[in-house]
Amino acid sequence: MTPDLIKIRKDFPILDQNVNGKPLVYFDNAATSQRPQQVIDRINDFSLLINGNIHRATHFFANRTTEAFEGARETIRRFLNAGEPSEVIFTHGATESINLVAHSFGEAFINPDDEVIVTEMEHHANIVPWQMMCERRGAKIKVLPFGDDGVLQLELLDNMITSRTKILAVTHISNSLGTVNPIAEIISLAHRKNVPVLIDGAQAAPHFSIDVQTLDCDFYVFSGHKMYGPTGIGVLYGKRKWLDLMPPFLGGGEMIDRVTFVKTTYNEIPYKFEAGTPHYIGAIGLATAVEYLNNHDIASLNRYEHDLLEEASFKLKQIEGLRIYGEAPDKAGVISFNIEGIHPFDLGTLLDQLGIAVRTGRLCADPVMDHFGVENMVRASFAFYNTVQEIETFYMALIRLKAMF
Ligand code: PLP
Repeated sequence: MTPDLIKIRKDFPILDQNVNGKPLVYFDNAATSQRPQQVIDRINDFSLLINGNIHRATHFFANRTTEAFEGARETIRRFLNAGEPSEVIFTHGATESINLVAHSFGEAFINPDDEVIVTEMEHHANIVPWQMMCERRGAKIKVLPFGDDGVLQLELLDNMITSRTKILAVTHISNSLGTVNPIAEIISLAHRKNVPVLIDGAQAAPHFSIDVQTLDCDFYVFSGHKMYGPTGIGVLYGKRKWLDLMPPFLGGGEMIDRVTFVKTTYNEIPYKFEAGTPHYIGAIGLATAVEYLNNHDIASLNRYEHDLLEEASFKLKQIEGLRIYGEAPDKAGVISFNIEGIHPFDLGTLLDQLGIAVRTGRLCADPVMDHFGVENMVRASFAFYNTVQEIETFYMALIRLKAMF
């Protein structure tokens, strides 16, 4: 069933405006998505009427925000089907979530000559924290490659995992290639060899229902701002069995049990990993975004986004000299491409003049650029509020710009 686009677009007031004199076409959803009115209103209400720091006082405001913050944790628990709310940790984003795991898991479990496996299609956020940890701990990174079609070479994984492999970190959906990785298969393969798995769900959580218990992943991370929520808020799901054994990441208020100058003891999870004042209004806003998604049929939104992808791929392939990077059979609404003879930055700037917002650059995925031997790409990424008409506008704009060069 096609979603009620008129109603949905009304929920996202930012979409209804002109940019550079043209109706906005927002195709940069993989970088950050827009927020529905419901999320904006909830954040405003808490800023206007009910602001008080959480967990710290007994007054009316503090009680209301604490309740809403812990309610948000429960909403996220249900969204992920996590076993218990304590396995849901609020962070500032997917990047911080991965840094937390790389740091704390590294401290607890990684020794010299151990190995961490990542893939060639990871966002820098799922490469650099592991590299930093490996440098500290004397361990090494191994990289599972992908083929030119953007599909991971899974047949190599079994042999890559050795007795020294301590963790595998893989993206659910590639932010540059759009590939939807078979994470259930990857997790079960890794688990057969007793290797825990972190899934970077930054690009997947906005589009799929996630079930961490069925997937049996050890860690799952995502950001609020890519799934119709606020910036500065993210989630780390982790199995209790790991989180209990991992030392804290940041020190400060709330993460402690008792502080003395001789010795400090630490709080239980999730608070052990939530040092300082969290972005509680962000967490409440994120929960509202999840409730917004839950009020729709997420699977049918995802099917609609897939239709947009197919339509856009079909159109773009008709443009001579246009190369799409990543054509996995299982692909999300992301198309990265270049047009021969046009610098991606020129293309991005000129599209902007026509009111069309796309991402240009290295897409925080240098190894993907290196794989294809290019410096930059242009990326269009879709959300359920985009339309077929916008794809037509985009296609016509590309034809027009190509003719100019
Ligand atoms: N992982 C993936 C796959 C991403 O696409 C991104 C952001 O683009 C991140 C991680 C980092 O997310 P954030 O910048 O919200 O921390």
